[in-house]
Parts: sequence; C-alpha cells; structure tokens
Amino acid sequence: MKTALITHAECLEHVTPEGHPERVARLEHILHALEGLNLSRETAPLASDEDLLRAHPASHIADIRARSPAKGFHQIDADTWMSSGSVQASLRAAGGALKAVDMVLTGEASNAFAAVRPPGHHAERHTAMGFCLFGNAALAAKHALDVHGLERVAIVDFDVHHGNGTQDLLWDDARALVITSQQMPLWPGSGNPSETGAHGNVLNLPLAPGTDGQHMRAVYETKVFPRLRSFRPELIIVSAGFDAHRNDPLAGLNWDTEDFAWLTAELCKLAAELCEGRLVSTLEGGYDLQALADSTRAHVEELMKAAT
Ligand SMILES: [Zn+2]
Repeated sequence: MKTALITHAECLEHVTPEGHPERVARLEHILHALEGLNLSRETAPLASDEDLLRAHPASHIADIRARSPAKGFHQIDADTWMSSGSVQASLRAAGGALKAVDMVLTGEASNAFAAVRPPGHHAERHTAMGFCLFGNAALAAKHALDVHGLERVAIVDFDVHHGNGTQDLLWDDARALVITSQQMPLWPGSGNPSETGAHGNVLNLPLAPGTDGQHMRAVYETKVFPRLRSFRPELIIVSAGFDAHRNDPLAGLNWDTEDFAWLTAELCKLAAELCEGRLVSTLEGGYDLQALADSTRAHVEELMKAAT
C-alpha cells in the first residue's frame, strides 16, 4: 500500500494579508515539491459540526462562522486572520486530517500526510490563535478514539512552537498521549515540563534557542521514543511543523532537512514496532518556502519508504 497525500484546492482560498508568514504560497510550494511522487492522492472532505464538536464547543464553531468576512480580511488576534475562504479551508484542513485517519485505520493507505492549511495546533477549545482556527491534529485523535474505537493514540508535535491547542483539547483525555517539543522561550510561552495533563498524558520538551539536530535527536531518543514504547499507541499522529529548520524566519532552532527525515524515519520505525505502521501526519508551520518544501518532501519520502 502507498502513502496517501490528502489536500484540497480550497486550502489555498484561506488568504492572509500581504507579508503574513502563513500564506498561500506555503502550500503551493509543498504541492509543487511533491509532484511526481508515487502517492495515493486524495481530496480532503469537509469536517462536519459533529466532527468539530469532539474537541470544540458549539460556541467556538459559531464564532468562527460569524467572523467570516464577505470580502477582505477579519482579524481575530495579532497573528490570526480570516478571509472569505477561511471557513471552508479550515473545514477542509480538519477534514483532511480525519480522512488521513480513516485511510490508515481502514487499511486504504499505510500512512498518510495531510497537506492542509490553516494549521491547527494552536487552536484551543474556545479560541482561534496562532494562525489556527480548529485543532486538526487533536480532532484527528478524537476521531480515531471516538469513531474508530481505538483506546490509545499518541500525538508527536515537532513544530518549533508549543502545541498549546492540541495540549488544551486533549488535556483531560487519558486515551491520548501528547508529546510536544518546542523552542523555549518562544511564543506562545507555554509548554513547560510542569504541564503534564490531567492524567499525566502530556509530555512537554522545551529546547533552548540554537538547538541543533544532534541535540534534538538525543532528546527524542532518550525522552520521546521510550515514552511512546511504554504508552503503546494504536496510532501515531504527527503534527508536522517545519519551522525548527535553521532557515526559518520565525524561530531560532538549527535543524536541517536531514533532521526532519531522520525524525520521520524513526517515528515510522516506532509505528511499525508498536502499531502496524499506522501513522498520520498533518501540516503545521514552516515559513521559509524553500526549507519548507525541501523538509516536507523529505518527510513524505520517509513515509513512502515505510509504506508496506
Ligand atoms: Zn510553528
């Protein structure tokens, strides 16, 4: 079976103001970089209200819909904007992550990458923030647990920013292990090791500015992989942000493209060891267009190598 690539043209209709880092060109560069790869290409469906309600209250869904501008932009906070296409894009983004779970858990694909935007890992239960409207990765976890009946799902978030939204959405769900590494100090400021979840189900790994790939590998080998082995997930969901790359303009870690390839390969090995290779990845950040395209391609190529 192949690796699935799930996306939708409407993810390009979420437009941000000139100069905003989370821009349409990100996904365009990624899709261009993935052209020609032997992937199972699928269209992201729309997430339903029922899907969103597994992690967000109805008031948040209504608020996002109500803010949608007929034209131009609506500003939610200092970083987070909506255009007329944003609601539809965000429903495709969440829906793409859910479709990835469906394909992997039903055996239609070995593993899957959802190339979608807006990203999701900063969206909290009641609050859009940090370019994110709905929590795509956490919704994917809830979908796997509530709809497919899994008992344990792990999320690994290697975006350079703290996955505060994923942590919030899954804080009190003992069925979900949330592992997130992030530069600290850095926006949004959360992600301290003392934040461990209501059931000890959250693992925060702060990384000092300047952390390179060698140190990252040591942290993952000593802290993340043993924790995954002891949790024994039935599915691994990756929040794949590529903004820890040394060329990224929003942060100060020094990972290289090969480090993302290494980390992806290791997570695929763990998935093979623990859960029949079942791994789903969804796009989060990454703001240097070339580094983003190169790193995403390396990520997807490792998923393809692991597909059996
Ligand atoms: Zn980020």
